Amino acid sequence: MSSATLFKDDAAIASGEHFFEQVNRMFDKAARFTDHPQGLLNQIKICNSVYHMEFPVKRDDGSIEVVQAFRAEHSQHKSPTKGGIRYAINVSEDEVMALAALMTYKCAVVDVPFGGAKGGIKINRNEWSEAELERITRRYTFELTRKNFIGPGVDVPAPDYGTGPQEMAWILDTYNQLTSYPLDALACVTGKPVGQGGVRGRTEATGLGTFFGVREACNNAADMQKLGLETGIEGKTVVVQGLGNVGYHAAKYFEEGGAVLVGVSEIEGAIYDPNGLTLQKVLDHRKETGSILDYPGAQNLATGTDVLELPCDILIPAALEGVITRENAPRVQAKIVGEAANGPVTADADEILNERGVLVIPDVYLNAGGVTVSYFEWLRNLSHVRHGRMSKRFEAKSAERILSAVTKMTDTEMEQDEFSRLVADVAVGASEQDLVNSGLEDTMSYAYNEIREIARTHDTDMRTAAFVDAINKIAVSYLQMGIFP
Ligand code: GLU
Repeated sequence: MSSATLFKDDAAIASGEHFFEQVNRMFDKAARFTDHPQGLLNQIKICNSVYHMEFPVKRDDGSIEVVQAFRAEHSQHKSPTKGGIRYAINVSEDEVMALAALMTYKCAVVDVPFGGAKGGIKINRNEWSEAELERITRRYTFELTRKNFIGPGVDVPAPDYGTGPQEMAWILDTYNQLTSYPLDALACVTGKPVGQGGVRGRTEATGLGTFFGVREACNNAADMQKLGLETGIEGKTVVVQGLGNVGYHAAKYFEEGGAVLVGVSEIEGAIYDPNGLTLQKVLDHRKETGSILDYPGAQNLATGTDVLELPCDILIPAALEGVITRENAPRVQAKIVGEAANGPVTADADEILNERGVLVIPDVYLNAGGVTVSYFEWLRNLSHVRHGRMSKRFEAKSAERILSAVTKMTDTEMEQDEFSRLVADVAVGASEQDLVNSGLEDTMSYAYNEIREIARTHDTDMRTAAFVDAINKIAVSYLQMGIFP
């Protein structure tokens, strides 16, 4: 995963409202469409617990530095709680609380049976060596374990901004050394390398889920007509802000789906070519020159944030929160904003985009691909078997038998070679990756239509509808648990 620290419009957050307050404003707007008692709404909204820690880390030169870190568990209406760990210099208590809340709503929207959590370590990872990052990650895991903030049934971290499979492997190994319950220990963290209990398809899941979600929107003829767009992904112009793990995979799937990638940004700046960029060539250029700038045929943009204002059909902010603010929202030209990042559109900007008729596909739905596939990984770890292991051969054999029967019933004359080729094409059992991707596609498609129906019923926007959906589902959990005697 790219560890680039992308720009973040601190002015948006510093303008008065903190990130958690912004999430709560979105919550309150949606709560008005429900009839739950205020006390229950308050319980859903608050962040149940936050662990703020500071610990010493020995640098490679022998000096000691104190590092600040957090883990917020927003809601235990379902266990375990779930959410990534980010390594970024702007990590704060407010930020992890906001992101943990978004995890709660996100899990509810896609029916993943977890509460929300989020962790963060306040470092710029580019300033630390690999060995130092390992020490930080292990010490953080030790702190979490000591305070019971990690465990397969308690709280399960995952990758987020600035972290990836390597950090998850260190977390697993540290947890394994400390736990007295090794049987299910693999399920203490997700997003692990495949060789360490990871599931195939997790790395690309958030980007692929983003693509599935936007494709679902684009396939709705009535909604596209309202935006003055043709139905389907094919030929639509796309801008992706941030080419980390999420942005890169989203861009890749849009390109493969026939969309035209016209603009991208990274830490060093942004480039634009209305005739289309080729993702792989942009990345090769970056590898060669150290920057995406000066890519042949493309225009360099003055600042990275300018990418958000480019003319395009679909804008995918895929980096950090608070980048589309009340200041630049009036200049956004995209017809669809797909929130691959968490919280990229501030509450004020959201109002402005809605008023301007922009279709905002909200983070609490659109980037849920990551946690959905994390759920598949967690299930794989608890069942101790690779998805599809017992059924793959059986499914292939069944398809072969059906094919044989059909050729016999229809008296189809076929050479043995031709039959074998057909069998090879058709009689394929589902691999783990096939199962994961189809489970993800189904989840994204079902949830989109669920939210869209709520939006239609209440004549509101997709974000408010997603929050209404989440609030209703979480309220049912609380009421059924009977925690309000
Ligand atoms: N960090 C990702 C998110 O924000 C994934 C969380 C997970 O897989 O638990 O959704």
